[in-house]
Amino acid sequence: MRNHPLGLSIRKVFKQYANGVQALHNVSLDIPPGMFGLLGPNGAGKSTLMRTLATLQEPDEGQLFLGDIDIVKQKEAVRQTLGYLPQEFGVYPKASAEELLDYFAVLKGITNRAVRKDTTEALLRQTNLWDKRRQKLGGFSGGMKQRFGVAVALLGNPQLLIVDEPTAGLDPAERVRFLNLLSELGESSVVILSTHIVADVAELCTSMAIIDKGQILLEARPLEAVAALKGRIWRKLTDKAALPVMDQEHRIISAKLLSGRTMVHVYSPDRPGNGFEPVNPDLEDVYFSALTGCFGPVSQQLRAEGIAL
Ligand code: ADP
Repeated sequence: MRNHPLGLSIRKVFKQYANGVQALHNVSLDIPPGMFGLLGPNGAGKSTLMRTLATLQEPDEGQLFLGDIDIVKQKEAVRQTLGYLPQEFGVYPKASAEELLDYFAVLKGITNRAVRKDTTEALLRQTNLWDKRRQKLGGFSGGMKQRFGVAVALLGNPQLLIVDEPTAGLDPAERVRFLNLLSELGESSVVILSTHIVADVAELCTSMAIIDKGQILLEARPLEAVAALKGRIWRKLTDKAALPVMDQEHRIISAKLLSGRTMVHVYSPDRPGNGFEPVNPDLEDVYFSALTGCFGPVSQQLRAEGIAL
């Protein structure tokens, strides 16, 4: 059942919160080593799944394995090999990057002073913070703080690195720098990037899943999912007022403002006529096709038959 000895296997996981929200509904995923994107809108259940993997909460049902480690039953073993960069994390504003990283390294069990010095130096260089190491964290920009978070998460060479919505608050230049940092991480560990930003996944991830309302809608390699939509996405520039009628006749997957007008993408295996022109699909078309149910049934069926996309 587990294809990769060092990969992550998630089997039939359910989670309902006390207020009745079903945050995860029968979630199963196989995540190989390398960069994996978990893509979904706000409220989809991403953080719930990430927190479960990070042993911060338990599922109601289901199993999660990191290699041979049972994540629910062997929390300590997971924590020893886990790096977790949560959506929000606090830093001590008066500590310098160097001091705080050294402190976290002690907590991580790196007690030998010389080893700790080498480790923290390597991480500060890797995250491009070496020149800023003596500055207080309180003065760090959002992007610098995120990169510091990665340095902390990478202490102890984790086999599983979880990064939850890392680029949400970053400006474009910081975002590029941050994604470049992630892309340099080895292919030997599992890195999960949880995000609602399609471009993050398109630029970085070799495999991905789309989640919405607690359910996995699609599990695929981005390039293969895009290829599977070829010839099925069509576009038309129209006015907002025309949308309700168009919605009755076509399967609209997205409608975006473009210079004051509305660019509509529809899903259709056949040429829809009516002035629609073919689109070279991209990952955004995959995302919106999945969210509107055009992709979901196909991929679920393929999965049930044991055929991966
Ligand atoms: P995402 O990370 O994709 O935005 P979350 O996992 O944070 O999604 O949330 C999934 C759903 O569960 C949402 O409807 C959210 O409101 C709800 N939720 C999350 N945490 C809690 C909680 N502690 N108690 C009750 N409901 C929660």
